[in-house]
Amino acid sequence: MCQNKKIDFIIVGQGLAGTLLAYDLIELGKSVIIIDTHLKASASRVAAGLINPISMKRCIPAMPTNYLTTAFNRYSGLEDKLNSRFLFKKSLLRLFDSFETKDLWIDKYENKQMDLYIDKFCAVNTFSFLKDEFSSAIVKPAGYLDLKEFLTVSREYFKENRMLLEEKFNFSEFNDRSVSYKNLKADKIVFCDGFRIKENPFFDYLPIAPTKGELMQIKIPSVENFDKIISKGIYIIPNDDYIYTVGATYNRDDLTENLTKDGQQFLKDKLDEVLNVDYEIISSVAGVRPTVKDREPLIGMHKEFNNIGVFNGLGARGVLNAPHFSKEFSKGLISDSIYKFDFKTIDRFH
Ligand SMILES: Cc1cc2nc3c(=O)[nH]c(=O)nc-3n(C[C@H](O)[C@H](O)[C@H](O)COP(=O)(O)OP(=O)(O)OC[C@H]3O[C@@H](n4cnc5c(N)ncnc54)[C@H](O)[C@@H]3O)c2cc1C
Repeated sequence: MCQNKKIDFIIVGQGLAGTLLAYDLIELGKSVIIIDTHLKASASRVAAGLINPISMKRCIPAMPTNYLTTAFNRYSGLEDKLNSRFLFKKSLLRLFDSFETKDLWIDKYENKQMDLYIDKFCAVNTFSFLKDEFSSAIVKPAGYLDLKEFLTVSREYFKENRMLLEEKFNFSEFNDRSVSYKNLKADKIVFCDGFRIKENPFFDYLPIAPTKGELMQIKIPSVENFDKIISKGIYIIPNDDYIYTVGATYNRDDLTENLTKDGQQFLKDKLDEVLNVDYEIISSVAGVRPTVKDREPLIGMHKEFNNIGVFNGLGARGVLNAPHFSKEFSKGLISDSIYKFDFKTIDRFH
C-alpha cells in the first residue's frame, strides 16, 4: 500500500460506482487510491446485474440508447483487460400478464419505434415450462453482469497495483481543506459509498431514499439452461446449468441485509405465476439500493468544498447507467473549465 504520498484522487467505496470511476480516472492518466471495506447490505455484491433497456410496464426506453452501447462496450473492454468473464448478453422474454398489455406492446412496436428493442412476439403457450398463456415478446439486446466476479477481479487488480486501502473510511481523520486522509493527500476525493451516504457528513443533505431488495437463487431440475432472461413481475436470470437468480423485492422501511418472510413469500408467489415446473430454493440474499426519489443520480461536487465529490444514486438500473455516468463524470473531474453533463447533477439541490 503506497502511503505518505500525493495522489490525484481518493475514492471511497469499491462497489459498482467506485470501481468504474477508478478505471475511468486511471485511463485518463490519474493516480487513484480506493478506500473500501465490505459493509453489510451494500448493493453491488448481491445485485442480480440485470441489463434491461426498457421499462416493462410502459414499454418505453428506460435510458437513452447510447447508455446501453456504452455499458456493453465498457464491460466487455474490462473483461479483456482483467482476463475474466462477467458480461452475459442474453435476450429477455417478457411474459404478458394480459392481452391488453400485449396490445400496448404491439402498438409501441408498430408506432413508437420500440422495434429497436422488441425483437419479436411469440404465440401463447410457446414455452412448456412457463405460464405464457397471454403470449410473450423478446427484448434484445439485454443481458446481465456477474457483479460478484466483476468486483472480485477488480479488487485483485487494485490490490496488485497498490491502489486499495481495505478499511472503513473514518471521517474524523479526514481534513476537508487539504483533502488529506491519514498519510494520503489528494487533489480530490469522491464518495461512492452507496446507501451509506446517509451517514456521510458532506452529503447527508442529499435526498437519498434507499430501497432494500431480496433475491433468491433457485435450481430448476427440469430446465438445464434456458437461453433467455424471463420477466413477469420478477426476473429469472439463467446463471449456470439448472441455476437461476430470481428477483427482486422493494422495501423502503428496513435497511438491513436480513431476509424477511414477506420478501421471500413475494418471490415464491411470483414464481408460481411464472413457472409450470418444480424448483428448489438454494439460497437468498438481501441488499440496499441507493435509490433517489426523482430517479436521477447523485453526481457532482459539494456545494461548499469543490474538491469533494459524490458518485451515487445509481438506483435499480445501476449496471446499465453507471458506465455512461462514470465516463462523463471522470471527464468533468479532470476538466479545468466547467464541464457540461448530459444528465442532472447534484446542483439541482443547491
Ligand atoms: C437486491 C438488489 C438487486 C439489484 N438488482 C439490480 C439489477 O438487476 N440490475 C441493476 O442494474 N442494478 C441492480 N441493483 C442496483 C445496483 O446494485 C446498484 O445500482 C449499484 O450496485 C450501486 O452501486 P454503488 O457502488 O453505488 O453502491 P454499493 O454497491 O452499496 O457500494 C458502496 C461501497 O462503499 C463501501 N463503503 C460505504 N461506506 C464506506 C466507508 N465509510 N468506508 C469504506 N467503505 C465504505 C461499501 O462497503 C460498498 O463496498 C440491485 C440492488 C439490490 C440491492
